[in-house]
Amino acid sequence: MRIENETKLDYANVLIRPKRSTLGSRKEVNLERKFTFRNYEPAFEHRNWEDHHYRGTPIIASNMDGVGTMAVAKKLASVGLFTCLVKTYSEEELVEFFDSQPDLADHVAVSIGISEQDLIHFDAVYDRLHTDIKYVCIDVANGYSERFVDFVKEFRNRYPAVVIIAGNVVTGEMTEELILNGADIVKIGIGPGSCCSTRIQTGVGYPQLSAVIECADAAHGLGGHIIADGGCTNPGDVAKAFAAGADFVMLGGMLAGTDQGGGEVITRLYETDELEAKKRILPDGQTEWTWTSCKVEERKFVKFYGMSSETANNKHFGGLKDYRSSEGRTVLVDYKGDMQPVVQEILGGLRSACTYAGAEKLKHLPKCATFVRCIDTHTRIFESKTIGK
Ligand code: 5GP
Repeated sequence: MRIENETKLDYANVLIRPKRSTLGSRKEVNLERKFTFRNYEPAFEHRNWEDHHYRGTPIIASNMDGVGTMAVAKKLASVGLFTCLVKTYSEEELVEFFDSQPDLADHVAVSIGISEQDLIHFDAVYDRLHTDIKYVCIDVANGYSERFVDFVKEFRNRYPAVVIIAGNVVTGEMTEELILNGADIVKIGIGPGSCCSTRIQTGVGYPQLSAVIECADAAHGLGGHIIADGGCTNPGDVAKAFAAGADFVMLGGMLAGTDQGGGEVITRLYETDELEAKKRILPDGQTEWTWTSCKVEERKFVKFYGMSSETANNKHFGGLKDYRSSEGRTVLVDYKGDMQPVVQEILGGLRSACTYAGAEKLKHLPKCATFVRCIDTHTRIFESKTIGK
């Protein structure tokens, strides 16, 4: 047994130090990025396109129920963001979706696992759509198995013209291994997710900020890219992930609860400790006040769950297999309505972070940013008293 004594960090352990900057306004910040991927070979039809590689704002909706939906993908693609669709869409649904708007191929990945069935499914969809599918997300909870690496390698040989996103891992050597075996973009994160209980169930994980710093370094050394996947709880964390070297940031919980994510909106009534005053004018003209029982407040929620939770297993796999436990939780997130303001808040925060750090472009953020380690990042004094933004 060995102990690594160097302290590893999470987003909550650091802040980005402000720097003198020549930027006049956050409006001047450019969040768009262009990437050329290492292993992907554009299909013949794409070779003359000026921008046959990636171009957009590198934020990705996670392939989770309530987030990686087709409605989310359409909405996000319209503003240059990316979506990894959930694995459960059928061949028909995928074909219809990509057929309806060929531009979606530049901003949407089809997600699969590593079973024989997953490959058959992808083959069938690709046969019908061909170059209308540009990205695949080969997604497993534990990216450290030999079988996973073999699958990525086989997939690369089979589909040279598909950009491969593969994960999840958290260490530099495994990031390199996946890139050398054909992955273009490696997804980083084991256990940081909002609906994840892997660290509790297994004791396994790696603090996310350090994982991103170390894996970005490993990937970039080989000309590969990474996605920081999971653990962002606010726009500031998204900025920290980019500052740490992430090429893309994937979000689950922060994008959950919207109309585009779908799911039933659940209304719950809460008793508050505020009394309701009632005024009555008496026959003699006097005013009488009475205070009746507690005020009732209505709140709206949407159910959101980890893709390894019991809820997801019941929904998609006929229940939890008898040899495994749930590694995800089921929660109620606030219903947020349309997705547009949610996205605006994230992009606004990110632009502002770039302004503070003196980065004119998102691309420059890692070079401009210095992290300061801290014991606490912000005060919580009015958190429970907040009534608006
Ligand atoms: P979030 O942005 O909500 O913090 O994290 C989203 C990420 O959590 C997903 O992209 C995925 O990598 C991870 N995730 C989703 N569901 C589960 C789950 O049930 N268990 C675990 N361990 N991770 C999950």
